[in-house]
Amino acid sequence: MARFDEAFKEEVRARNDIVEVISAYVKLERKGNRYVGLCPFHSEKTPSFHVVPDGQFYYCFGCKASGDVFTFLMEREHLTFYEAVVQLAKRAGIPLPREERTPEEERAYRERRDMYAALDLAARFYHHQLFTPAGKPGLDYLLGRGLTEETIRRFRLGWAPGRGMLYRALRDRFPPQILQKVGLIVPRRDGQGFTDVFYERVMFPITDLSGRVIGFGGRILSGDGAKYKNTAETPLFVKRHVLFGLDQAKEEMRARNQAILVEGYMDVITPHQAGIRNVVAPLGTALTDEQCRIIRQQAQQVIVAFDMDTAGQLATLRGLQKLYDSGCDVRVLQLPEGKDPDEFIRTHGAPAFVERIEQAVPLIEFRLSRALPSHRRPTPEEMAKAVEAVAQVLVDVRNEVVREAYVDQVAERLAGDDPLLKPDLKRAIDRQLNRLLRRGFQHNLPDFRNNNRGPGLPASPGPTRPRPVDVPVTMAELAHRSERILLRLMLEHPGLLRLVEAELGEDPFADPCHRQIYAAGRALLAEADPLAGGSVIARLFDRLPDPEVRRVLSELAAEPMLTTDPEKEAADCIEKIRKHRDSRRLEELENQIRVAAAAKQRVDPAIWNEYVALARKLKSSRS
Ligand SMILES: [Zn+2]
Repeated sequence: MARFDEAFKEEVRARNDIVEVISAYVKLERKGNRYVGLCPFHSEKTPSFHVVPDGQFYYCFGCKASGDVFTFLMEREHLTFYEAVVQLAKRAGIPLPREERTPEEERAYRERRDMYAALDLAARFYHHQLFTPAGKPGLDYLLGRGLTEETIRRFRLGWAPGRGMLYRALRDRFPPQILQKVGLIVPRRDGQGFTDVFYERVMFPITDLSGRVIGFGGRILSGDGAKYKNTAETPLFVKRHVLFGLDQAKEEMRARNQAILVEGYMDVITPHQAGIRNVVAPLGTALTDEQCRIIRQQAQQVIVAFDMDTAGQLATLRGLQKLYDSGCDVRVLQLPEGKDPDEFIRTHGAPAFVERIEQAVPLIEFRLSRALPSHRRPTPEEMAKAVEAVAQVLVDVRNEVVREAYVDQVAERLAGDDPLLKPDLKRAIDRQLNRLLRRGFQHNLPDFRNNNRGPGLPASPGPTRPRPVDVPVTMAELAHRSERILLRLMLEHPGLLRLVEAELGEDPFADPCHRQIYAAGRALLAEADPLAGGSVIARLFDRLPDPEVRRVLSELAAEPMLTTDPEKEAADCIEKIRKHRDSRRLEELENQIRVAAAAKQRVDPAIWNEYVALARKLKSSRS
């Protein structure tokens, strides 16, 4: 555990608004007193992730993820609490206090810091080289591709000079273990020390969402070897998470609600220079689940500008289908003569590219156009093949109405000059489709994580709440529900504490989670200046380490407050809780009396008296 003092944590929390912090990861939309977006912790199409600025906490109705600004960063970025506090302190420009860390924390913290620092210094080194005589081939190449010096600086492009130069420049600053761990150097084949991974290449620094360098791509200009080479997988450079250009593109992606996916580094940089700034490149054209999630969090429409003829077709389509399945409007942009966006913009200009973006076709239409025969008079065999291929595409359309519309459209196109064929073709496609749909649900089951129906049914469009606000049926449920409402009221109106204590005593709740929350809240209020530094809920989180209790607290806090008269509502709850408590006590007393009677023992008169009084009270309250 880190040992920041309470005041420091509060300052860091107070100066990092949770909505701002989370907005860097999730596209949030304001809904009343909260912000709603797609959950970054589970896959979903309908937003169930809530961020409540008043309480400075988040809560997901789908997967129940919850917490404050610190836990968000810890979970999203896989940080320790310590690292999360440090990162947020930095973000807000708050200097860190000098304090003790465990040797283990200190070691891990220093190593990570050194790894980022080494990569940053390497990026500077390469960038600097570009403007020296040694880097002239690199600079000539980049200028020759139409980049301005400003763009070169913005993307920190560079030149890796002769083999061993980087290691020589960095070895006095960092131990070889660090440089090797971030993928900058490798041991020499002869076992004599280390040498550079990249040399005589144009260097493209690859950054994370916040702009820190995590790896490099290097392009060779002449000689043998692969044209492009990327940093190998490292603790910081995890390829399946990486989208080149994301930190430069994220704002524009959110603002336009549109992302453009391209293949190469230059395909990101050239459009950016031309003012098209919502462009990113996954490293490879087969999108991973993580990349899909990142894209989906920034934008709903995705324009794919891959070269669909060369990009490993099936894997690419599967990745794009994943995006489509996650609710994105995926469109395919095709450029003439297999040009890539970089080339296209250099020859035809940015306006022509923007025009192409507007003409991009929906993914399903693109796939259908490939499934249909290219000429007007297909043979019966070609027709049968097309029907099969078309069904293969349409099986991926989940919405039945949309699917039927496509079947109609495709049958018409296939029928061509002979409209009489259309009904037959429609039936043929439907037959294939039904066969595939049946098989599909048996063999590749849809995602059921978001609902609790059995297999065999398509996933419901949105997550269902596993704990819906049911109408309570028993007195126990009624009392439990009242406890929740009462706690919820007290979170908003701490002044109710006195009323609750006067009516129900110092231990008013039965549910163990509610008791912990109540106890923590009471302790908080007992402090001299309870409301200084952050909201009640945020501070309660700090005092309640048990994840189950935290879950209940966030669930509570996320419930809307509907009352206009909190005191009356509280009194109602107190009444229900007391009634339940009384009837439980009555049962207990009855039991004692029964046991005593069975054992032929004399019943304590105090028990009798209490029993009679309680029974009378409950009877009168019922009538
Ligand atoms: Zn979730």
